[in-house]
Amino acid sequence: MARQARSVCRICCANCGVTMTIDDDEQTIVDVRGDKDNPMSQGYACFKGLQAEDMLHGPRRLLHPLKRQPDGSFVQISSQQAIDEIGDKLAAIVARDGPQAVGTFMGTSKVTANLQLPFIQAIGSSQFYSVHTIDQSAKSVSGGRQGGWAAGLQDFNQSEVLLFFGTNPLVSHTTMPVMSPNPSRLLKDAKQRGLKFICIDPRQTETAHHADLFLQPLPGRDAAIAAALIHVILREGWHDQAFTAQHVGESRMADLEATVAPFTPEAVERCSDLKPGDIVAVARMFARDSRTGAAYAGTGTCMAAFSNLAQHLIDTINIICGRFRRAGDAAVVDMVSAKTTLYAEVRAPGRGWEAHPASRIRGVGMLGFDRLASTLPEEITTPGPGQIRAFIACGANPVAALPDQQSAVAAFQSLELLVVVDPFMTATAKLAHYILPPRMMYERADVSFSIGLTYPGMAVYPMNWARVIPAVLEPPPGSDLVEEPHVFWSLARRLGAQITYNGVAVDMTTTPTTEGLLRMRLHNASLSYDQLQADLESHPSGRIYEAPWGVVQPARPGFNAQFDPMPADVAAEVEDLRASVLVREAGAGPDFTHLLSTRRTNQVMNSLGNQMDDTLRRVPYNPAYLNPDELAELGLQTGDRVEISSRHGQIEAVVQPDKRLRRGVISISHCWGDLPGQSGPGINVNLLLTSRSDVQPINAMPRMSAVPVNIRKVASTL
Ligand code: SF4
Repeated sequence: MARQARSVCRICCANCGVTMTIDDDEQTIVDVRGDKDNPMSQGYACFKGLQAEDMLHGPRRLLHPLKRQPDGSFVQISSQQAIDEIGDKLAAIVARDGPQAVGTFMGTSKVTANLQLPFIQAIGSSQFYSVHTIDQSAKSVSGGRQGGWAAGLQDFNQSEVLLFFGTNPLVSHTTMPVMSPNPSRLLKDAKQRGLKFICIDPRQTETAHHADLFLQPLPGRDAAIAAALIHVILREGWHDQAFTAQHVGESRMADLEATVAPFTPEAVERCSDLKPGDIVAVARMFARDSRTGAAYAGTGTCMAAFSNLAQHLIDTINIICGRFRRAGDAAVVDMVSAKTTLYAEVRAPGRGWEAHPASRIRGVGMLGFDRLASTLPEEITTPGPGQIRAFIACGANPVAALPDQQSAVAAFQSLELLVVVDPFMTATAKLAHYILPPRMMYERADVSFSIGLTYPGMAVYPMNWARVIPAVLEPPPGSDLVEEPHVFWSLARRLGAQITYNGVAVDMTTTPTTEGLLRMRLHNASLSYDQLQADLESHPSGRIYEAPWGVVQPARPGFNAQFDPMPADVAAEVEDLRASVLVREAGAGPDFTHLLSTRRTNQVMNSLGNQMDDTLRRVPYNPAYLNPDELAELGLQTGDRVEISSRHGQIEAVVQPDKRLRRGVISISHCWGDLPGQSGPGINVNLLLTSRSDVQPINAMPRMSAVPVNIRKVASTL
């Protein structure tokens, strides 16, 4: 018998509403569509979400825990046996080496009731890693060095202009706080009310295609372009002078102006291979002709050269133009956290990373609770106190995601215990001692919400959204699947540790239910779990909430901190940039012909989906894209195999033309490929990267995009 159900796709943070037809006899999804009644996504769902049927019921989904055998093969075991054995091994390692010998990695595919960090804290370790330090940790560094605005950036809905660096929200959906589900409709509606938007990207992305102004520079120039924009805005007096006088101060503004003085628009246009007048045109549209709307950077900027400096200077553009919510503005509110009052005041710079003891690896620190992902292989392989010997990757595929894949593989192979919680046999899972397949979305309860002030004022959605998501599907018949929170609770219990979740001590005697954990997550929220459940009865697709407490209040007396846009270490990075080949010439640098840049696709979410059956994906590998004219000049045809070599390594890839890509750039999606030497889906560009050189200070962020490479044909298309 078939029934209809409404739910929320949780492949990415866009959380689009879906309607499904479910065959109750088979417990399978037979049809998925966008939910037209969902007030946020309004019927939108992307290709990835519409493949849920294949993702949940496809032939490659793992349905039972697996244990590695001495010969490298896997055998099926029960989840109870797996948890018992993992618990025993963890206990032995902790007893011998201490809790720092245990680490964990939280991936994009996390659940709301996530106990990974509470588990690590409960056992007394600090070895917590996440995707945060693989792509956009520059945002935390920028806020820490120059300060932030407590009420956040101006809202998308009120913006006259937007300036996008290296981001493609029409495909990625979640890199921006301003456009999430159904980004095309949001953008179209906003343009009809007069929004102008500017894109700066080496590729004329799906988003850039609709831009009022599009600049197509060489990759890796975002820091220089942002410096030149500041130069022009200050020179022309297009900044918000009243705001900067109060919140930056005269001498800091003078320092900033002097530091960016060498970055004339003409010089930066030359090294970026832009047209004369491009940079002034952007400054004019953004700063002179508009009074509201902010500049944003995405992964393209935050994974390239000088990523911390680029993000910093892009944030500085917002500071000097005063693009923040002011007293009386309404802010998007996090409905599942405690009510907070937003004030129109500066959050003083606060270098939280300096409060952590320096790591034994390269002396780096931490960002919040995160250790730095690029140092993880060394944390595993470097002997001595604190060496990681046991590791749990959950909803994550670090062997595919970390730079320098060879080192990552060697490190993970050397672990005494590697546990992977994942529904698919990923590259990381292939190295695991135990694989625990979990329930997937639709088979477990969750909560969707407008993630609040992760960075000041940045909500994922442009409205106050929250919705409980009951499970609508039983796990496949005969399967033995885990729920992620239960794994960490069970292991903590076996180690005699007390987990505290959202400030609440979790009962360690009775297995917590997912609903119970979600109730703890919302225990101090402005909307209770019961309220959200009741609202789902009357609004089965979810609802948007009023939140009068989200109106920004005037600054509190005595709260008069100022921004510091050019502290000494940032000024030193500006000098490094001036000395770099990136601002001396328009090219890939000595010895190289091209710059390799990352890109997103609309068919997979990072590595998630790469393990689906080949027939279920539009393109079963990740091509290397080149401008078609350049392809012809290089004597290449669509489908030819090429060797791409960097200073660090080589890969082979299949070329395809992309007329929207500028010359001098080769572009490939990251996080594809299998283990080195195995023929998996596509190729992993992390084989070309290193985490030992060209690394950013503070967040140890390697250069993962705008990487100099050469290209050589190795085989013709068949
Ligand atoms: S954008 Fe696509 S993958 Fe993301 S939640 Fe919506 S349907 Fe799912």
